[in-house]
Amino acid sequence: MSKKLNGTVIVTYRCNARCSMCNRYKAPSRPEEELTIETIKKLPEMYFTNITGGEPFIRTDLKDIVRELYKKSDRIVISTNGFFTDRIIDLCKEFPQVGIRISIEGLEQTNNEIRGLEDGFNRGYTTLKKLVEMGMKDVGFGMTVQDKNAPDLVPLYKLSDEMDMEFATASLHNSFYFVEAKNIIKDRPMVAKHFEDLVNELLKSNSPKKWFRAYFNHGLINYIYGQKRLLPCDMSFDTFFIDPYGDVMPCNGTKDKEVMGNLNERSWDELWNSSEAEAVRSKVRCCDRDCWMIGSVSPAMHKYIWKPAVWVVFHKLKFWTNKKYSMYENKIVRDLRDGKVSTEELDKCSTCDMCAVVNNGLSEASMEQLKDRTGEEIVDADIASQINGANK
Ligand code: SF4
Ligand code: SF4
Repeated sequence: MSKKLNGTVIVTYRCNARCSMCNRYKAPSRPEEELTIETIKKLPEMYFTNITGGEPFIRTDLKDIVRELYKKSDRIVISTNGFFTDRIIDLCKEFPQVGIRISIEGLEQTNNEIRGLEDGFNRGYTTLKKLVEMGMKDVGFGMTVQDKNAPDLVPLYKLSDEMDMEFATASLHNSFYFVEAKNIIKDRPMVAKHFEDLVNELLKSNSPKKWFRAYFNHGLINYIYGQKRLLPCDMSFDTFFIDPYGDVMPCNGTKDKEVMGNLNERSWDELWNSSEAEAVRSKVRCCDRDCWMIGSVSPAMHKYIWKPAVWVVFHKLKFWTNKKYSMYENKIVRDLRDGKVSTEELDKCSTCDMCAVVNNGLSEASMEQLKDRTGEEIVDADIASQINGANK
């Protein structure tokens, strides 16, 4: 029997939010081109599947997709901006075991400014509360930490903790997937200090899962200082992404879209064992983008478990002698403080490129529709027609 994989299924590039760190909403896929159930049936066995977008709940057939994926996946988590409350609740009624992560980018004002969704915080928060009331076990927040929302990091963690929810963090990344190349943390010591506080909150808890989350957040400090990943990146070896067009990719962190093959045209085994897939794996082996996103770090943390485990044991022992984690344990953080390296030098280590031409990974037909209308206009009209259709 072949090994189960970790897969991320990008069901659509359509999105109704207007996030400041992601331009995907300006570059939607055409609904007619998006992954069909037939293609989803070809996916391999998975031990974990993340369904994401764009905004996955824009797809009115999401329940059919989840039903199909449960035939081949042990665990499914859907990442959403939480706007379509009724659709989320409806799906969770049929699949109470599904995980839901709602992106909340800070407390009310900060979230609404970053995400650009009217009343976005209250909608997301209300959806989460309703899911908890329904008895859903695997629900939580997802936050992309940046200069603007870093002060909300620990308060938001505490809010999630009070509600007995998961709290997933990320920081700014640049790639074709985010249709962005200019994301960068400006005040690294300030953001790192908030991560340090979160690491200490997580280490303080009695949950081993949270201690490993602490390690992940320690890795985020390392990442925002532009350093080498703490763990190897094995994307495309036992992990894959598939985009709305059926293109199988190693990850969502590359500058341009890297394609291992198209699943609409081939069987999974043919694609996974193809020379194109091998060529992508060779590129991954020398990739220097050093992303630190949960999609590529979680498999690595399982595979190279001894490394985070040693870190956790060391820091728990320190904690018991009343010594907290400090961001200055990272040499690069001390070097910036001591003037041995400048902010400008660290900026050069990041993937931020103010002059880059961003490849949005869209198909020709999806690009074509952007000639007459903006992505926002297309998606707004699309959602309006879905709502009108439902009201008829
Ligand atoms: S981050 Fe997510 S919710 Fe925000 S614009 Fe991008 S795809 Fe949409
Ligand atoms: S570091 Fe890994 S996740 Fe990031 S772009 Fe390279 S291969 Fe993809």
